[in-house]
Amino acid sequence: MLIVMKFGGSSVADAPRIRAVADIINTAAAQHRVVPVVSALDGVTELLLDLCDAAAGGDTDATNAQLATIDKRHALVAEELGAQAVVAPHLDRLRTLALGVLALEELTPRVKDAIVAHGERLSAAMLAHILCATALDGHEAGIVTNDHFGEADPLPELSAFNIRQQLLPTVQSGARVVVCGFVAANQHGVTSTLGRGGSDYTATILGTALSADEIWIYSDVDGLMTADPRSVPSARLLGNLSFEEAVEMGKFGAKSMHPRALEPAAAARVPVRMRSTFKPTNPGTLISDAGSTQSASPVLAVPMLKGLAMLTVGGGGMVGRAGSAAAIFDALAEARVNVHMICQSVSEAGISIVVSAAQAENAQSILDRTGREQDRRWTIDVKSNLAVVAAVGAGMKGAPGVAAKIFTAIAEQKVNVIAIAQGSSELSISIVVEAASGNAAVAAIHKAFIDA
Ligand code: ASP
Ligand code: MG
Repeated sequence: MLIVMKFGGSSVADAPRIRAVADIINTAAAQHRVVPVVSALDGVTELLLDLCDAAAGGDTDATNAQLATIDKRHALVAEELGAQAVVAPHLDRLRTLALGVLALEELTPRVKDAIVAHGERLSAAMLAHILCATALDGHEAGIVTNDHFGEADPLPELSAFNIRQQLLPTVQSGARVVVCGFVAANQHGVTSTLGRGGSDYTATILGTALSADEIWIYSDVDGLMTADPRSVPSARLLGNLSFEEAVEMGKFGAKSMHPRALEPAAAARVPVRMRSTFKPTNPGTLISDAGSTQSASPVLAVPMLKGLAMLTVGGGGMVGRAGSAAAIFDALAEARVNVHMICQSVSEAGISIVVSAAQAENAQSILDRTGREQDRRWTIDVKSNLAVVAAVGAGMKGAPGVAAKIFTAIAEQKVNVIAIAQGSSELSISIVVEAASGNAAVAAIHKAFIDA
């Protein structure tokens, strides 16, 4: 089999962890062709972003302090691994770039990418060193992006072509490589990055272009869970789920895969397995076409999103007046407010929008202003301290009674439902509740469908 194996920051946090990753790779390489992809050491991307801020702000002391922290962190790990010689050139180059930004007090997105890319370059260099492999950055492996520095999009056809031309023959020849996650380059070879958490994306792009048999995503958790074990002690590991279900789960919880990263694998139907570096023999959670067919329950998982607020735009002026929704969402988009959930009842007397609590005030003022400017006579009501609880599962599709069972379960716990949304794909039902009732709602739904 051909396997792409991606290791997140927590899997390569220090020298012993990097050694453990090397063991996992060696064990897999005894049976399969493997393409390891690696993130920066845990927390290093944040350090690099802080370095960028310090240098761009012209703060010499903070820049030097930040460089010293990054140097020390890597020097320590490299020393334990005997990899000092391979990290030195990257640390030198990083210093040169940072001092350049400091001198100019100017940071373009392109230069920021050139700096931030060093996290993955450093970790890949060290891992490659102990594996006697060659470290490649994403561009050398074949990934080409547009010029959207900071969150660049891969050019899919060109990248797939290059990956097959460049990386595939290397892998087939049995040569050992380690690929930097997150880092790529535009068509002119200028370094770009794929956005926060972008190493997963690197893995799925490579896995898809190489027609890998599976893509293994290693982190410090066992896989995806039926619920957060902190709210539901009986939560258990999900063995299988479909790509569509995984996309529904994507925005809940830091440990699920971002839908953007999952997308190439989902389109090409290359199975993705989420596994733990701490328990390398566990099979983890498999996301594939076979999906959750083994599951008897229509609801597979009950994730929750906290820290939310809901704005309700109301007023008689909205009823039967075309363009109200467009005006609301245009205004929010312009203010870069991300909308988590939307509800409108057929009476049209109100549209409710769920946003992150941190963006609620901004959203309220922009809607207030838009309403006045366009003479729409809106009233805007804001509710804070909310959570969205979702019941996710492809088995809900076309199955009557699932919603009834969900609402009975939460009503029995005396949890008040503030708003509800279900997309017509019927893959999930999202329920807005007071944050204080969130755990009770999750536990009730979990008990009704999953514990039973
Ligand atoms: N190092 C990058 C980040 O922390 C990419 C990744 O870890 O996936 O966002
Ligand atoms: Mg990271």
